[in-house]
Amino acid sequence: MVADVIVETPDTSTLVLFTGNDRLDYKAGHFLTIDPHQFEALDRFTAFLEHLKGKPEPPRAYSMCSAPHERYLAVTVKEERFVPNVTKYPPLLSPLLVKRTVRGMGLVVTGFTGPYTLPDDVTSQTDHLVHVCAGSGSVPNVSILKFALEHHPTLRHTFIYSNKTWNDVIYRDTLAKLAVSHPDRLAVVHTLTREADASVYGPNVRKGRVDTTLLTELIPDPTACLVYLCGPGISKFDREAAKEQGTVPQPRFIEAALASLRAVGVPDKRIKRESYG
Ligand SMILES: Cc1cc2nc3c(=O)[nH]c(=O)nc-3n(C[C@H](O)[C@H](O)[C@H](O)COP(=O)(O)OP(=O)(O)OC[C@H]3O[C@@H](n4cnc5c(N)ncnc54)[C@H](O)[C@@H]3O)c2cc1C
Repeated sequence: MVADVIVETPDTSTLVLFTGNDRLDYKAGHFLTIDPHQFEALDRFTAFLEHLKGKPEPPRAYSMCSAPHERYLAVTVKEERFVPNVTKYPPLLSPLLVKRTVRGMGLVVTGFTGPYTLPDDVTSQTDHLVHVCAGSGSVPNVSILKFALEHHPTLRHTFIYSNKTWNDVIYRDTLAKLAVSHPDRLAVVHTLTREADASVYGPNVRKGRVDTTLLTELIPDPTACLVYLCGPGISKFDREAAKEQGTVPQPRFIEAALASLRAVGVPDKRIKRESYG
């Protein structure tokens, strides 16, 4: 049952879910799935899209932003947009979850799974976790961050978070509070691509993308840290569309950040990634 809906930004909401009194067995970084067929309000739209696409609409994946030691399960959903001549179909589920989900509503979720988790022996592999995220890519990283701050006291964190504008930043207050309560263990750096003067938002807010200059400054130990990289990446639909046009898909956040991480010397085996393509 939806216990609360927290509006994080104009297009993003956190759904806090009450699942009964049992502690749920999941790992920080796991996702759950939500099947659009359960929503009567979407029936006609789902049928129409299935007719156009010629196949059933699959369940959508949503990472938990809650951490296993917390009382409630929570997911954060960013509404996808239909952009004429850019996106092929209007998005099905995320607009309903973000804009039309209310307290008290029942939801069937399945889970929990996913490879984007910390290894059990993480503290023998590193003392520095670098989070590199964009948009809703912060969701599993915030779960991992909260879990690790609680359970792995020897780990330090650098949380690098890219968004278009300051108003797009999800978990702004949560991240700021965690940084204040763990001054020696957490540094949060925001990087904004579409703000003329990002510095007005504070000393830890930069203008631009996650590039080699920023990573060189924030990762003094490229061969010793572990990176958790999450955000939009090239999707199979992007690949298919590019193939049809005889082109190659444009790099998105994951591909661009990966190239920069490699350029500053982080070995591939030290970069864990999850793409929301
Ligand atoms: C592991 C994982 C974790 C995720 N976690 C989160 C999270 O924490 N928060 C979050 O907000 N999102 C998350 N996502 C993304 C999420 O699962 C959905 O993809 C997103 O919410 C969009 O779903 P939708 O139903 O609104 O849009 P969709 O209906 O899936 O449409 C999305 C885009 O795909 C295109 N598309 C769809 N079907 C086709 C087709 N057959 N051919 C061509 N193009 C097509 C549409 O045109 C549109 O541009 C995650 C994804 C993954 C894989």
